[in-house]
Amino acid sequence: MIEKIEHIGIAVERIEELISYYRDVLGLEYRGEEIVEEQKVRVAFFEIGESSIELLEPTSDDSPIAKFLAKRGPGIHHVAVRVDNIDQALKQHEANGAQMIDKEPRFGAHNMRIAFVHPRSTGGVLVELCQKSE
Ligand code: ZN
Repeated sequence: MIEKIEHIGIAVERIEELISYYRDVLGLEYRGEEIVEEQKVRVAFFEIGESSIELLEPTSDDSPIAKFLAKRGPGIHHVAVRVDNIDQALKQHEANGAQMIDKEPRFGAHNMRIAFVHPRSTGGVLVELCQKSE
């Protein structure tokens, strides 16, 4: 069961340069930052209604975000949808032949369990399934 768009992830070179736009110009609530070691990324959160915008800055040159920036420049990196049961969502994807980047859930920012679906199966957008872990 899909609950909502959890967040939109935007790859940026430097979070610092963009905080003032999202917080002061667009007027979103700035919820701080977190480093996700596993993905070698620093994430800044801005609340927008029931969802958030996440700015993703690489913490190392071999970060997936660094590779994305080198190839495509800054921009929308992924759309995350919140599900109530990620294991079931993964089974459903598998049963329907969707191409997965993650066959098993892993941990993302905010202690969420996440799994990425390959853009080949989604119309060109990297989709992140995520479930709030208890
Ligand atoms: Zn995400």
